[in-house]
Amino acid sequence: MTPLIDPFARAISYLRVSVTDRCDFRCTYCMSENMTFLPKADLLSLEELDRLCSVFVQMGVQRLRITGGEPLVRKGIMTFFKGMSRHLESGALQELTLTTNGSQLARYAADLAACGIRRINVSLDTLDEAKFARITRWGRLPQVLDGIRAATAAGLRVKINAVALKGFNEDELFSLLDWCAGEGHDLTFIEVMPMGEDMSPLRLDQYWNLKDLRARLAERFTLTDLTERTGGPARYVKINETGQKLGFITPLTHNFCESCNRVRLTCTGELYMCLGQEDMADLRAPLRASPDDAALEQAIRAAIARKPKGHDFDYARQNVTGKIRGQITRHMSHTGG
Ligand code: SAM
Ligand code: SF4
Repeated sequence: MTPLIDPFARAISYLRVSVTDRCDFRCTYCMSENMTFLPKADLLSLEELDRLCSVFVQMGVQRLRITGGEPLVRKGIMTFFKGMSRHLESGALQELTLTTNGSQLARYAADLAACGIRRINVSLDTLDEAKFARITRWGRLPQVLDGIRAATAAGLRVKINAVALKGFNEDELFSLLDWCAGEGHDLTFIEVMPMGEDMSPLRLDQYWNLKDLRARLAERFTLTDLTERTGGPARYVKINETGQKLGFITPLTHNFCESCNRVRLTCTGELYMCLGQEDMADLRAPLRASPDDAALEQAIRAAIARKPKGHDFDYARQNVTGKIRGQITRHMSHTGG
């Protein structure tokens, strides 16, 4: 089958799939406390998700990242992971992975490893129990730490993703780094993005530029930029003194669009060609219209032909009302972070 190539000659080899918009946490930068979730009937069934992902794999997607919402709170999700593992076994898929808040890992880590998952991303912004409860509203730190330990025990490599938040985890920069080094986890910092309903004043307040974060690190360590790229917004540095690798995801201050190899599928079957643009293609209609995949493949190709050159986020270009230009109204939990 002809591979998926967009108008800017980028091969689409990476699909992120949000399998649910629901979550057992309510992180302040991601969701409001009383979120309205999608009616369950709107969600793709696990069988439909399997069919859709399998078509993408046939069309050249080699890496699949499952996200949400919280992927591990979707009922029956292990059936989906087991299903996807057949593409790892056949060699069509190079990597199956997930991004999780860690709350259910103690229960699922061994099963995930048995499905061929080798590494996972766990979101963790603080190691302070009270602060953790504050930022996630509903989360409990010990449960997540137990989950991370279970993942490591099951042989999964864990990368910690921490959203850099001004006045919140600035003081934990070095302790997070030390903890990750001690536990053998990689660490990536993410800049907070203007997603969800208009909370621009809050977001701007929380915005901690990773250039500042990096400068603070450089006061103590020597940093070497690594050339390695993943096709996404992450850039990596090595801390010379410890050998530790550190990632920076700076969608707002760094242009990574030229090498973008990814698209995102929501739990209702919408395909977003760019995290920072509103354009999307509905794949649920062609999926449900026929058991034959021809119309679906055609819809996917038509969508990829519309993949934009780049995104529009920019804190620096606020207009006079203080709003962020390029603000995206949908929540991260909808598109899948
Ligand atoms: N529930 C899972 C988790 O928390 O890892 C997966 C979904 S969550 C939406 C994926 C990632 O998006 C998390 O690392 C989270 O910290 C990040 N995220 C959510 N809202 C964000 C925002 N406004 N800016 C930057 N990152 C955000
Ligand atoms: Fe849930 Fe993840 Fe959003 Fe936090 S960041 S509310 S854990 S989906």
